[in-house]
Amino acid sequence: MIKHVMFVAGTHGNETSGIQLIRNWQRSGCPYKYSTFELSSMLANEEAISRNVRFVDEDLNRQFSLAKLADPQISLESQLAIDINAKIGPKGESKFDLVVDIHNTTSQMGGTLILPSSDAFYISMGRFVKQVLPEANILVEDEVAYEAHPYLCTLGRHGVMIEVGGQPQGLLREDVYQLTTLLAGAIVAFCDAYNEDTLTNLEPCQAFRFIRNISFPLDDNGQRLAMIHHQLQDNDFVPLLPGQPIFKCFDGSEITWEGEAEVYPHFINEAAYSKQHVAFATAESFLL
Ligand SMILES: [Zn+2]
Repeated sequence: MIKHVMFVAGTHGNETSGIQLIRNWQRSGCPYKYSTFELSSMLANEEAISRNVRFVDEDLNRQFSLAKLADPQISLESQLAIDINAKIGPKGESKFDLVVDIHNTTSQMGGTLILPSSDAFYISMGRFVKQVLPEANILVEDEVAYEAHPYLCTLGRHGVMIEVGGQPQGLLREDVYQLTTLLAGAIVAFCDAYNEDTLTNLEPCQAFRFIRNISFPLDDNGQRLAMIHHQLQDNDFVPLLPGQPIFKCFDGSEITWEGEAEVYPHFINEAAYSKQHVAFATAESFLL
């Protein structure tokens, strides 16, 4: 049974669509009907929200590994993680059966549901969301065990992330807000269906599985040698084949994809990953 569900936003303080959604739900109630569980909501990083920045000292959504929770640092986010773990965790023993953490991205990823595991619960949720919202992308990040992820959502017995884009940091777009709302509504509907045991006829669906991050080419001084090629820009979840251009170098040349036979790039040119020189991530397509 899913008895307690927590919707979170503002884990990143400049991702406004989830923040606005939670504020609206707190003001007017969740617009989706549900009857079999209790729904709570919270904003995670109020200080970052008021400053309209991703974080104050460090990324809050990387603070929830067991190792980090056991060894808090003096940063605002490290301390905040301890408070949030006490409120909606503790990790591994949470009373929340599901934590849904809402994000947005500057990449053109549309409405994406990120599943940090691929056990039976997540397979059902992915299939259900894809069935009621066919335009949704289902992205599985099961390269490590569920508990090993440092994400806030993994404080719950189950946890998932909503990731919608493209939306610039710090502002709100109506299309992104509406897509975020639809994904949240699909998850609310899933929880009732799960509890009512009506999920028996779910068809397998197309999903993506994270492979790795691809970095920008740098010179010996750590300076960029290239930018995302215009043929790759905004083509999140469009197949990328060997020989297709991925970078346009400042000397006029091009760098082509020479990796796996067919990958699905995503988080292309994501602003928050630029500092670490991450150009995009790759995934493979599979049947979930
Ligand atoms: Zn985020």
